[in-house]
Amino acid sequence: MATIELTKLIKRYGKVEAVKGIDLSIADGEFVVFVGPSGCGKSTTLRMIAGLEEISDGTLKIGDEVVNEREPKQRNIAMVFQNYAIYPHMTVRQNIGFGLYTSKLDKAEKNRRIEDAGRILGLEALLDRRPAALSGGQRQRVAIGRAMVRDPSAFLFDEPLSNLDAQLRSQMRIEIKRLHQRLKTTTVYVTHDQVEAMTMADRIVVMKDGHILQVGTPTELYESPVDVFTARFIGSPSMNLLPGRKNDATVSVASGGDILIGVRPHDLIVRATASDDKTALSLTGTVTAVEPLGPETLVHLDIDGTAVIATARDKFVPAVDTTLTCTAAPGNLYIFDAQTEKLLSRS
Ligand code: ADP
Ligand code: MG
Repeated sequence: MATIELTKLIKRYGKVEAVKGIDLSIADGEFVVFVGPSGCGKSTTLRMIAGLEEISDGTLKIGDEVVNEREPKQRNIAMVFQNYAIYPHMTVRQNIGFGLYTSKLDKAEKNRRIEDAGRILGLEALLDRRPAALSGGQRQRVAIGRAMVRDPSAFLFDEPLSNLDAQLRSQMRIEIKRLHQRLKTTTVYVTHDQVEAMTMADRIVVMKDGHILQVGTPTELYESPVDVFTARFIGSPSMNLLPGRKNDATVSVASGGDILIGVRPHDLIVRATASDDKTALSLTGTVTAVEPLGPETLVHLDIDGTAVIATARDKFVPAVDTTLTCTAAPGNLYIFDAQTEKLLSRS
């Protein structure tokens, strides 16, 4: 188990700065997820932690030790990749045991660890099979098992689920989370998928262009995004944004204004009948598409040329091409500066 501390961590490739001075303290036993669009520096940061990429500047501490100059194998960290290399000619037992290839542990201890990992990952009945006789999810578990037997002080995952189909991905998400709850090993997990980040993380680190934009629990990021980028990135469907103007305490939709009004699809409600509830925002437009999801329907509207998604509940499924009004209750609006895109206030 270990804390991981990044101080002004920089990675340069020639003149290009891929990671531009990152500060982050990861607590012992914490599950931290790096999330952000492709190319923002997630893998590079993870690989610097693993020791697979030289650190150009700054300090990396694991536990009490500065490890900038330490070889990967001296860092006692285990990494699981998207393209997990499991060997087809080896059994599951041998594949998991491969994590101990260079270890000086005695044979009995190695076997104990392999069997423990097999049991925790639900592979105990498959230890003598070869990978060809396993499902995609089982293979991914073998790769995790190989990392586990080393009893590392931290796990690093780089998009480990990207190659799996949607159903398996959501199942493995929960499995990795359960595994963490059981082992409580410090974990850094990289993904471009905000749903993975939201469902797995103790804390999410939002990255963009080699910087950290915001760090917080899933709820903190959802409730209090610092800017338009995080606001749009966290939550699905993405937060709606409309150009607007602010006068005293009220906001109104207007083009060329100095603010952007953000409202999440789940807070923008289309009703079958009028309601006299208080509203902070009321938008009228044409229904362009509907997505009935069962308990609710996502309603796509064209509001004066701006595409907006609202929600209809209580089995109300609006018809396409009809004109409808959607409303948001007070407290559900996010007001951003149109220029800087920083959050100014809630309304
Ligand atoms: P992410 O994992 O967030 O998609 P990466 O960390 O892989 O992003 O990459 C961050 C940036 O660094 C990208 O612009 C990428 O092109 C660049 N980069 C990554 N590896 C190298 C390399 N070996 N040489 C030069 N540039 C690289
Ligand atoms: Mg990557």
